[in-house]
Amino acid sequence: MKILVATDKPFAKVAVDGIRKEIEAAGYEFALLEKYTEKAQLLDAVKDANAIIIRSDIVDAEVLDAAKELKIVVRAGAGYDNVDLAAATAHNVCVMNTPGQNSNAVAELALGMMVYAVRNFYNGTSGTELMGKKLGIHAYGNVGRNVARVAKGFGMEVYAYDAFCPKEVIEKDGVKALDSAEELYKTCQVVSLHIPATAETKNSINYALLKDMPKGAMLVNTARKEVINEAELIKLMEERADFKYITDIMPAANAEFAEKFAGRYFSTPKKMGAQTAEANINAGIAAAQQIVGFLKDGCEKFRVNK
Ligand code: NAD
Repeated sequence: MKILVATDKPFAKVAVDGIRKEIEAAGYEFALLEKYTEKAQLLDAVKDANAIIIRSDIVDAEVLDAAKELKIVVRAGAGYDNVDLAAATAHNVCVMNTPGQNSNAVAELALGMMVYAVRNFYNGTSGTELMGKKLGIHAYGNVGRNVARVAKGFGMEVYAYDAFCPKEVIEKDGVKALDSAEELYKTCQVVSLHIPATAETKNSINYALLKDMPKGAMLVNTARKEVINEAELIKLMEERADFKYITDIMPAANAEFAEKFAGRYFSTPKKMGAQTAEANINAGIAAAQQIVGFLKDGCEKFRVNK
């Protein structure tokens, strides 16, 4: 069995070493394709792979057509919108993610970006503090829960809304559960986004939702750029000089945001939420272990194309 790690943005070396160890200990062959620049390189590398570990790499119908021996793809990370699930199912390929493995890394980045923004991007002027501010967590999954934990340490008043997580589960963490996204945005001065990009959530963060945020509002996005209706966010920020947008996923209209909203807009140069040695190791090794469990014992615990 050949297990391919195909990452255009490579894992940290220590993570690659850990993945190799897991795979070789199970008696499988390890192969590595890193920093590829052409899709043709990926198509060639997957030809004889039985399993693939990816990060943000695109696995579409063309890749699946080329991978004749493929049984499983594991996205080392949480979001799997880079994999064509319907095509994978049609090819009889199991798709998994590695939930929870990078959540603390993303949560720390979200809080770090909040501090950076309320301190005016460390420009030497006097800023504000997070303590006592109302933080709204939009989606209480693995990242949202970690954001709540860290934010409480900062003394923030934490609220959350999740379409699927029961309110009792949220409230057990000492977080106030609200009934709708609308209520969350109306209540909280700072909203941290943790919804996945799905057909339902794409473009859902729009003018109607954001316009009711309290004065001095800040939206922090460590989820996906696709969930934001960029044109409507721009319209809102043109109307409201008090509104800040801080993101880990550069918008398509980055240049326009940067030019129009200097001093209240920030984007990381590339997605950095999961870019820590710890998250790389956790997610990479979990991916390798899930592949071994699937190939040896048929374990499908983290399958996302059920
Ligand atoms: P998760 O699957 O643990 O949690 C997602 C939560 O969203 C779940 O609790 C689910 O019930 C909720 N949800 C789904 N649809 C919803 C809706 N329409 N309204 C409200 N809640 C909804 O995922 P996670 O690990 O917390 O990650 C969240 C997202 O963050 C991922 O999907 C990914 O896109 C993004 N992410 C980004 C980075 C980064 O590097 N910036 C890293 C990891 C994850």
